[in-house]
Amino acid sequence: MRTEFTTEQLADPRLDEANSILRKCVHCGFCNSTCPTFKLIGDELDGPRGRIYLLKDMLERDTTPSKQVVKHLDRCLSCLSCMTACPSGVNYMRLIDEGRSYIEKKFNRPLMERLFRNALALTLPCPGRFRLLLILSGLLSPIKQLLPERFRAAMNLRSGVTRTGQKQRTGNGNNRSSASSLPPESGRLSPSPLEGGNRKGAVGLIAGCVQQVMGTNINSASIRLLEQQGYQVHLLSDPPCCGAVEHHLGKTAKSEKRFKQNIATWIKIADELGLEALIVNASGCGTMMKEYGHLFRHDEALAADADRVSEMCRDISEFLSGQTMEFRSVEMNNIRVAYQSPCSMQHGQKIDSQPLNLLQQAGFDVQEFPEKYMCCGSAGVYNLLQSEIAHELGKRKTAHIEQANIDVIASGNLGCIMHMQQFTSIPIVHTVELLDWAASGPEPFQGDTRFPLDKKSNTL
Ligand code: SF4
Ligand code: SF4
Repeated sequence: MRTEFTTEQLADPRLDEANSILRKCVHCGFCNSTCPTFKLIGDELDGPRGRIYLLKDMLERDTTPSKQVVKHLDRCLSCLSCMTACPSGVNYMRLIDEGRSYIEKKFNRPLMERLFRNALALTLPCPGRFRLLLILSGLLSPIKQLLPERFRAAMNLRSGVTRTGQKQRTGNGNNRSSASSLPPESGRLSPSPLEGGNRKGAVGLIAGCVQQVMGTNINSASIRLLEQQGYQVHLLSDPPCCGAVEHHLGKTAKSEKRFKQNIATWIKIADELGLEALIVNASGCGTMMKEYGHLFRHDEALAADADRVSEMCRDISEFLSGQTMEFRSVEMNNIRVAYQSPCSMQHGQKIDSQPLNLLQQAGFDVQEFPEKYMCCGSAGVYNLLQSEIAHELGKRKTAHIEQANIDVIASGNLGCIMHMQQFTSIPIVHTVELLDWAASGPEPFQGDTRFPLDKKSNTL
């Protein structure tokens, strides 16, 4: 694609990078065929090729974008499916991130929208505030129908979590270590006891911001699996957030500040404890952390540490794939599992076969379903900002999965689990919960009457 940035503009490294990305695009349109919003809406401007033109025009002309331009760019999920489809290696992720940052600086959103976006940036990365929000949302549930659509969308997610929360068991006598009983607000460093001492090494498990409030069962399962592999696990609850929420809202100053704090803290912890990896079990956070190295490549003081954090970051499925896993000998093969690969996992980190292979190795009958590459509509905070499109995508994804006639859905990202659970009665769990179960951890469906009892009792 031909671009017309001025020499002055190209002196800015961010615009220089945008220019290099744009120039790789040959307008072939292959990316449109896998874009969820293009498939749903059918407008060229709601597909990647059209958005690339909008971004080029907006950045080149350096003017305030129109409402129409912002509308089409806001509708992008940042699912990155277009990057997987693109034969020319266009890094759409970095381009749309630059666009979001530009819009945040130049475009004056309506007051309510600004307040809502600011509220998301203030609450989600902070577990304490987020807990308060959940309590408030519970109190408001009797008058839910009177609230604006966006608030209702948020509350629907909460009810998905309440159902997911049924799986937060108190243990079935099968726990192998005290890690499973770690409280949600465990200290910054919570070394797990390991019989026989530190056999393989130490790793840090990023507790996550929303996840340390809503997905403690996922963190517990992860800890048990890593301990079983002989690692000493340090649960890293602080700093709580990778910065993706603010970054994707275009709040660049805030996200950069958070990235810098994270890098400094995690490097210090890694050195103190001799961590060999920073394990992440929410793929959206993993994609963000793996980008730190690139984001700070020009920062002399931080570049090496940022790069090290990105290098140390491993999705849990990626890390476990390199281990020799042992699963119990009982048959799991009459449990039919559909593995839903989050976009940040399959498109963002290019981790595709590892979680699937692990589930098969554990003995589960993993089923295929159509449109696996399509986003479920969760996409960070997208389902709160663009609830109608997110709703359509969620229904479409779960309808496809249900066609596969399965018992349980596994996913690698809490956001996808919570979002999809609104549209199906099939239980949805994190991949590590199933792996942990197969490796003699507690059953993820305890108290969940939706899961066919005959399968549970026949199997275990
Ligand atoms: S597939 Fe790649 S090169 Fe083709 S239009 Fe899309 S972004 Fe451009
Ligand atoms: S990131 Fe996803 S929604 Fe956005 S243009 Fe690419 S494929 Fe479409």
